[in-house]
Amino acid sequence: MVKTDETDYKKYIVKRNSNAYWSVEEKVQVILMGLSKQVTITTLCRINKLIPALYYEWKELFIAGGKEGLLGKNSRSEREINCEKKVNALERFIGELVLEKELLKKYGHPCAEALAESAINWAEFFEKRGFKNFKLSIKSSDIQEMVNANIMVSKQTDAPLHIGLTEAGTLVSGLVRSVLGVSKLLEKGIGDTIRISLSSNPVNEVIAGRELLKAMGLRTGIQVISCPTCTRTEIDVENIAESIEREFAGIEIPVKVAVMGCIVNGPGEAKEADIGIAGGKDGVALFINGKIIKKLPIENAYIEIKKYITEKISAGGK
Ligand code: SF4
Repeated sequence: MVKTDETDYKKYIVKRNSNAYWSVEEKVQVILMGLSKQVTITTLCRINKLIPALYYEWKELFIAGGKEGLLGKNSRSEREINCEKKVNALERFIGELVLEKELLKKYGHPCAEALAESAINWAEFFEKRGFKNFKLSIKSSDIQEMVNANIMVSKQTDAPLHIGLTEAGTLVSGLVRSVLGVSKLLEKGIGDTIRISLSSNPVNEVIAGRELLKAMGLRTGIQVISCPTCTRTEIDVENIAESIEREFAGIEIPVKVAVMGCIVNGPGEAKEADIGIAGGKDGVALFINGKIIKKLPIENAYIEIKKYITEKISAGGK
């Protein structure tokens, strides 16, 4: 059920910031609630854990095509759908492969050496049969075991490696463990694709993966700097910062955005960014390239940042 107030927030099943977790009926409910103006869009999105960008996308689809508009995004051919089913079946088969009994007997227990030998055997198996378009993924929930196995395999084959921990854990613990393991390999130049595995919204996995690559200088993109918030905070720093990060997660144009909660300590960081805001009692101060440009109503802050980033993207980052 779409929420309109925060009274039973804790009982509410948190909706994911993804199309997949919302039924069409729920989307319609949330759009109608927004259109009715009973609550502001910022509040509606915040209490339903929905990024404003997704709300506006749904609203446009709904206005253009009603309920059908929200449904009709699937234009794939039957052939594509059948191919996807076959690929999924093959992936499931390969994904379910476990360490072979002979290797368990040879090494006594699952270990990096056993995982590496298994991966190399499978690579040879496929190569001998003419398959060249594959990559190896050697997973373990043990950080050092996963790292060592991948190092060993990288010395024995040129096959691309998909690296990451498996069953890494929940949002925070899984993120810390995954980043530790994956970054150890990336620092050595090992790994062609990565997976951050979290017991959390899959959107978080993608964002975390991209952020790790950006932090290691292996990818460029939007960098959001946001303050930790405190008693001085005047704006919803978390929601604005997260919304920007999610909406522009796939963008490779480098833009530094600062979202700061107050006008006391916020301007310093806001001035250092390409675009920054600092919250005030009755509005936010907007900074662009180190200069204060204007004061904005709080509800316009996100839109203004989005407009700036979109213009940068259109201009190819200039
Ligand atoms: S910028 Fe302001 S609101 Fe944010 S943590 Fe610092 S003092 Fe607190």
